Amino acid sequence: MKTKQLNKPELLAPAGDLARAKTAIRYGADAVYIGGRSFSLRSRASNFTYDDIREICAFAREYGAHVHVTVNIIPHDEDLDGLAEYLRFLQECGVHAVICASPYIMNCAKKYAPHLEVHCSTQLSVTNSSAVRFLKRHLDIDRVVLARECTMEDVRRITAEGGVPSEAFIHGGMCVNYSGRCTLSNRMTLRDANRGGCAQSCRWQYHLYQGKTELTKQDDLFTMGSRDLMCLDHLYDLMEAGVASFKIEGRMKTEFYIASVVSVYRRCIDEILLKGGPLDADRMRMYREEMRKSENRDIWTGFYDNPDAQDSIIYHPNTNVDVNHDFLGTVLSYDKTAETAVIQTRNPFAKGERAEILSPSGTYEPFVFEWMKNDKGEYMEISRHPMAEVTIPVPSAVKAGDMIRRSR
Ligand code: SF4
Repeated sequence: MKTKQLNKPELLAPAGDLARAKTAIRYGADAVYIGGRSFSLRSRASNFTYDDIREICAFAREYGAHVHVTVNIIPHDEDLDGLAEYLRFLQECGVHAVICASPYIMNCAKKYAPHLEVHCSTQLSVTNSSAVRFLKRHLDIDRVVLARECTMEDVRRITAEGGVPSEAFIHGGMCVNYSGRCTLSNRMTLRDANRGGCAQSCRWQYHLYQGKTELTKQDDLFTMGSRDLMCLDHLYDLMEAGVASFKIEGRMKTEFYIASVVSVYRRCIDEILLKGGPLDADRMRMYREEMRKSENRDIWTGFYDNPDAQDSIIYHPNTNVDVNHDFLGTVLSYDKTAETAVIQTRNPFAKGERAEILSPSGTYEPFVFEWMKNDKGEYMEISRHPMAEVTIPVPSAVKAGDMIRRSR
């Protein structure tokens, strides 16, 4: 068995709003990346206000975590007003890094907010070490976010020879085109993918014709979205390669997804570090099963060991086949004497059903809803409404922010 002193990589999680950012940090992320309301892709990801950015920076400091802010549009001249002020504001808040795709924005960050690290976005599609050295020499970047299209050999070489720390994607959505270098959305919806408006047109369902002959059937239409990345089985290789940061994609994803995914990677990374080598088949099977409890689409391991990207595209409607757990609610408070918790509900559940607690400590404790009460203290047989406050008995101490989920 291989054992080796491994450096601890940063686990970097996405967050579309304050609640999701706090959840990611509570569940073990070393850093979160967020978008402000300006200069950021993912304009639909309920981006952070100035006050939110101040608040998440203060929250992250309490946990020793970092905040990275995407300033990653491909800007046209009219998009650049206020850039210097915005960068100075991020620096004053204590943001650790900005993630940029435009060389001009990288240059401005160095000039107007020199305490911010500048991370070169995956939008630049960096796939070789010469490009990294060029970016270091001319733009003084502090980190490169590698293109998702890199193979494991590319990752090793760029990390060893690029001269700046590297960041690699380990989980989440992939583009069927070259990491966002795509104008499908622009053409079909007038929403510019490179200004944050991607309508995910590749995932729509299409009737396919050859001439006047339709090749598709009504219940088997054509799509061309990519499978999602899932890299549990490559964590050790990426750590051994010396990758500085492991990035989870998905600023549009839910709080439950973020908690579930971050929690699994946190535990798996920590266990590999403790062991100093790859985990055995049983442990990896356990982590893969845990990962399937979140809202994954169909998955693959990306270009790391599939340079030809065979089997990467979903040609038929995506049915979220791997989702096997429902998010039932978040714990608001715990009564130690009564051994009960008040939860804010999300999906319906009934007395007698089995559920489990998902907590930042990584324990997944099963239990049965022996009874439940509404906010008037009345016993209920079923909880039907989202965002209601319901009291349930729990088998062990829980904390605000723990989540309750149910196996399908
Ligand atoms: S339409 Fe699909 S391939 Fe194009 S940018 Fe959006 S997600 Fe990527």
